[in-house]
Amino acid sequence: MGKKQHDAARVSEPVAEESPDCSAIKAEKKKMKKKKDKQNQDSAKRKLEEVEVQDSTEPKTKKNKKDKKSKKIAEEAVAVETNDAQNGGEDESVRDEHVVVTGKNIEDEKYAPTTTFSASGLPKEVLECCKSFEKPSPIQSRAWPFLLNGRDLIGIAATGSGKTLAFGIPAMMHVLGKRKGKASKGRNPLCLVLSPTRELAQQISDVMCDAGTSCGVESICLYGGTSKGPQISSLKSGIDIVIGTPGRIKDLIEMGVLSLKEVSFVVLDEADRMLDMGFEQIVRSILGQTCSVRQMVMFSATWPLAVHNLAQEFMDPNPVKVVIGSEDLAANHDVMQIVEVLDDRSRDKRLVALLEKYHKSQRNRVLVFVLYKLEASRVEKTLHQGGWKVVSIHGDKSQYERTKALSLFKNGSCPLMIATDVAARGLDIPDVEVVINYSFPLTTEDYVHRIGRTGRAGKKGVSHTFFTQQNKGLAGELVNVLREANQIVPDDLLKFGTHVKKKESKLYGAHFKEISANAPKSKKITFDDSDED
Ligand code: AMP
Repeated sequence: MGKKQHDAARVSEPVAEESPDCSAIKAEKKKMKKKKDKQNQDSAKRKLEEVEVQDSTEPKTKKNKKDKKSKKIAEEAVAVETNDAQNGGEDESVRDEHVVVTGKNIEDEKYAPTTTFSASGLPKEVLECCKSFEKPSPIQSRAWPFLLNGRDLIGIAATGSGKTLAFGIPAMMHVLGKRKGKASKGRNPLCLVLSPTRELAQQISDVMCDAGTSCGVESICLYGGTSKGPQISSLKSGIDIVIGTPGRIKDLIEMGVLSLKEVSFVVLDEADRMLDMGFEQIVRSILGQTCSVRQMVMFSATWPLAVHNLAQEFMDPNPVKVVIGSEDLAANHDVMQIVEVLDDRSRDKRLVALLEKYHKSQRNRVLVFVLYKLEASRVEKTLHQGGWKVVSIHGDKSQYERTKALSLFKNGSCPLMIATDVAARGLDIPDVEVVINYSFPLTTEDYVHRIGRTGRAGKKGVSHTFFTQQNKGLAGELVNVLREANQIVPDDLLKFGTHVKKKESKLYGAHFKEISANAPKSKKITFDDSDED
């Protein structure tokens, strides 16, 4: 992973310090970036005049001073690792990869990071699966001491960080500890891993089955779309770890062939995605059937309110939170970002005006983001009625319709598409010229993700965002993103204030600890996916 490991002494410092060489690289990169940004900014201004979309008089924004370490990291946060500046394209913003750990008593000696496999104290047969790795990945290094000591843990880390073994090895140790020499045969599962999709479940299961061969821990993958017969036979003969998607697990419980009463180690992987896909009730019901004295691990790429609520309900009141990610939320500098503050009701008319501007040829790819599937249907219908050739992807469409819409958009037969965040997640769509945010997303992270659909592969792109009174809570964060990319900040946006909620990390951890339990619930977005069972 190419990360610079800090020694254990550094771990007790309240905030991370940069290593001197890292500072030098960053300073040089910042200098180059500043120059480049100045050029981009001039070009952005010229383009902006061309498209006449707003008349902000905001002067060129100074580079937003990043008060690095600091206030952003919560009191008990301990940044344990600072990575070398990422070395992407020349316009890539300089970011630090951090591991930030928060929680009660995290500085206890027993929670010191596991910097080497030999220092982990894990049995040889359990570590067999790591033999090709040089050292524990940052998430493993931080998560293992907490998980092996029975703490509940929230991990904010993406696939690719080594998170499967970060929870997988403690899961196997949990089984070995409970089993005390007895074989799996004939017993109910002791660990459960819930995954939102079949693909992810299978991926986790492959890792766990492989890791379990040397230490005799048996795992099984349970997901829909395949025959239940072999899954039932495996369950009957006894298993240690069950990995699966919520729908099939619920089915098997209802059939009486799967009992979770002995499950005392639970992992929710991609918890945010699981809830986005409408699994909240099933997940709650499944969790309710596990042993009341259990250890819980939740991994999530983001931390929305619904995930926060789930954690509050089912986890220890003082879970440890390990965040792997960049401290600086930054947009792609190849995207000219235009933000237009307007009244909710004028968006339809304005959208049509923008399409006449950006999509006149009806040949270039334009992607319009909305928030909810009903909104997607409504906007699609309105545009159809206005004579626009448009397709959409959202959760109310069948998989067939979604695949078809996407291929029409991709092959250029219909280069105008409406999409919800959930349906568009993970899609790789080349050559999108303009992204229009008809509705502002629920988080600024999603905003950055959406606009990143354009300005790819060295090309320039345009994003045009509607911002309404309803979104005012995110104004401060948006201003920061715009300033960081040297974009024009409209006066109307500044009127909402530039306050940014205190949080542990800009990229992750949004809302955690910040939102009271009686705050209004966010709307559930359901997702008709064939992965459901
Ligand atoms: P994951 O995030 O669990 O999907 O893992 C991503 C990839 O990282 C997989 O190919 C793992 O085999 C690999 N991996 C897991 N742990 C380590 C490690 N400690 N060092 C290097 N690679 C690892």
